[in-house]
Amino acid sequence: MNRAPAFPAHHCSSEYAKMCAPAQKCRECGITHIEPGCVIDGELLCWADEDLCSHCQDCLQKRMEADAARYRFLRDRQTRQVDIAVGGIFAGRVPENTILGGEDLDRAIDAELGVNVPHEATLESRLADCLAECIDQPLLEGGSAEFSSPIQIRLGFFRPEISERAAALLEEAGR
Ligand SMILES: [Zn+2]
Repeated sequence: MNRAPAFPAHHCSSEYAKMCAPAQKCRECGITHIEPGCVIDGELLCWADEDLCSHCQDCLQKRMEADAARYRFLRDRQTRQVDIAVGGIFAGRVPENTILGGEDLDRAIDAELGVNVPHEATLESRLADCLAECIDQPLLEGGSAEFSSPIQIRLGFFRPEISERAAALLEEAGR
């Protein structure tokens, strides 16, 4: 009478599996063995993934964070004429020779990477269009035989300060 399994489960999953498992190798640094208790930069070294050691995972994470911060810097640059005139690092497109930022830069890169993106104007651009219409379109139009040209009254006639602020914003947006 023998009720005990030939290979006890715990024995099989630890020693036996270890012997049969393919050798691990970190895809970044190439190490294949991690000594128990090994510490690098104050962190206990272990396997973060099948083919990645914890030290390389930390390095990859830091690299991704640095790359993301660099992209944010380019993306969030103001691209007014006055900013460009000062000079510095900008993202742009050739041969058009245009400086890109914000959603425009996102879309341009996505398009280059082959991502399908909807071709809708950015919110900033649509707001600028609307603002331009608000100050450019006449609110009232009239004319009579006494005047050689028709009279057009725009927002600036009633509220010049709003009209001037709008014009300054449109200029800032490169309109
Ligand atoms: Zn590694």
